[in-house]
Amino acid sequence: MVSNKAELLRNEIPLELESVELGEEGVTGLVLVDVINGFCTVGAGNLAPSEPNQQISAMVEETARLARIFCDRKWPVMVFLDTHSPEKPEHPYPSHCLAGSDESNLVPALRWLEREAGVTVRRKDCYDAFIGSMEADGSNVFVEWVKANQVQKLLVAGVCTDICVLDFVCSTMSAKNHGVLEPLEEVVVCSKACATFDFPAQVASETKHALAHPQELMHHVGLYMAKARGATVAGAVSFAAPEKP
Ligand SMILES: [Zn+2]
Repeated sequence: MVSNKAELLRNEIPLELESVELGEEGVTGLVLVDVINGFCTVGAGNLAPSEPNQQISAMVEETARLARIFCDRKWPVMVFLDTHSPEKPEHPYPSHCLAGSDESNLVPALRWLEREAGVTVRRKDCYDAFIGSMEADGSNVFVEWVKANQVQKLLVAGVCTDICVLDFVCSTMSAKNHGVLEPLEEVVVCSKACATFDFPAQVASETKHALAHPQELMHHVGLYMAKARGATVAGAVSFAAPEKP
């Protein structure tokens, strides 16, 4: 029944995934959104999967592959980590990824990124990493990262496709159109390197005030909405052969 609904949605809002090759010209940057224990590691917290999840495992594997390639080529990487203080809960979700907890740290497969030169790590306490990049003086760490590295193409990956990834893509596309993200030209969202959580309607109906969140559908909707903001949506990305030194 669930897959019939997924099929119906795919017919109603069809989305063709593109093949994207990176590294042909200009600087390509990678943004990883919340690939942290609290959302990806089984049993790690209130919003972590309670059992192994294929979409999430595949996303972790693919983001680790992408991060390795970007670091090997010395391309800029920015990593966002959802991190909250207990006094500022994030409605409507239960307490998650508290500062100082392992929930708010990168998953084991990506932990090495913290020690890499050229990787910018930013903790954020809200859905939208673009907003979470704002400092008290109005400056924006993400905008400065784009400009300092002269990022022309941006690859976005992580969780959740339809929440934090989408919010970040929406704000980035608006900022780009507003003329404050030069020289950024293109934002690519990679389906294989994104995932969302599964909370089927049947389960939600038995839980007070819960919003249903069927994984397959919401992942599709997240990608579709990113496309509707002008982002390129790729099934998977490949890389041009590295330049000879
Ligand atoms: Zn959060």
